[in-house]
Amino acid sequence: MSETLFPPDRYPRLTDGLGRLAGGAGPSVLVQAEAVVALEALAHGIGRSERPVLSIESSRYGRLTSAWLRAAGARVTVLDLPDGEPADPDRVDALLRATPATAAVLLTQAEVLTGVAHPVDDIVAVAHHHGAAVAVDAVAAVGGLAAPRDADAVVIGPQKALDGPAGLSVATLSDRGWALLDRQDDTHASVLNLPYLRRAAAESAAAGTLPGTPSVPELAAAERAVAAVEAEGIEARIARHHATRAAVRAGLLAAGLTPWVADERHANPLATTVAVPPGVAAPELADRAAAVGGHWAVGDSTPRGAYLRVSHYGRHATLARALGELVALTHAAHADTGAAAEAAADAWLAAAP
Ligand SMILES: *Cc1c(COP(=O)(O)O)cnc(C)c1O
Repeated sequence: MSETLFPPDRYPRLTDGLGRLAGGAGPSVLVQAEAVVALEALAHGIGRSERPVLSIESSRYGRLTSAWLRAAGARVTVLDLPDGEPADPDRVDALLRATPATAAVLLTQAEVLTGVAHPVDDIVAVAHHHGAAVAVDAVAAVGGLAAPRDADAVVIGPQKALDGPAGLSVATLSDRGWALLDRQDDTHASVLNLPYLRRAAAESAAAGTLPGTPSVPELAAAERAVAAVEAEGIEARIARHHATRAAVRAGLLAAGLTPWVADERHANPLATTVAVPPGVAAPELADRAAAVGGHWAVGDSTPRGAYLRVSHYGRHATLARALGELVALTHAAHADTGAAAEAAADAWLAAAP
């Protein structure tokens, strides 16, 4: 029986531990499914508002969110951003001015796919000024960037910079965030109903049981991931991701390659994207890098050209990963490997915790 393997009192503790990593705005709910399900549940609830919602689309996750909101009946305003371009708080301000009574702004804090990180705290401030709540997909940010301050709903999963399992996730909501979902009936059993999941978890906790039949290996792995982050310290983990970002970017620049996200402050510490230089096709460059041990993947093609991305999160947020990826890419691009390695090492040593 799962109960004998995972004591029920550890379920709320795990929920709270993940919720703290998500910024701990208020009561959290654990979703026994990967983070896309928690994100769909959040959009499903917010999308029932009869007020408009603003969806910031900076990759396929944003486009999915807009589709979920529309499916729930929402009137959706879209801020569509080119791959790798950070959201400008002034544009968010203008859109909220143009669409009064917007209920909520939904955005991804940072993208592994495009390498961008948005100025989420500035966007929260602008949204709150207009009376709109903010819901953040922080799956590809948590552990590498500070949790959003004052956001009303934050979803994380342990599968990226937390080195945890992909099969569960958590949503943390402020009172204002929960109020956004008050058109959902919390007695209606559905995995897309966060108020129901919260109520079911509270009832189970009171009865000393687990809600539903959770996957015990996933719960145990998530517990270990939270414990490992707490042992390292969240600040130290974030600093390690920042040092890795600095190393990779310094190496690219020293080799004459161009980071796809121009400003380091808007670059996701979990993954780096680089413009594909003229004269070579992106798949060929990625293949040549893979032949010498690189992990560069081909990004979407855009009007600005093509880019490659490499992830360096969790246990891969290391100087060794940065150096290995730079050696592979500079070799593939016939760029200066020595200069890249030296600059990366210097940047790491200057930034490392
Ligand atoms: C990885 C990721 C998710 C979660 O996707 P899963 O398919 O559940 O792993 C959500 N949002 C963003 C921005 C991500 O990078």
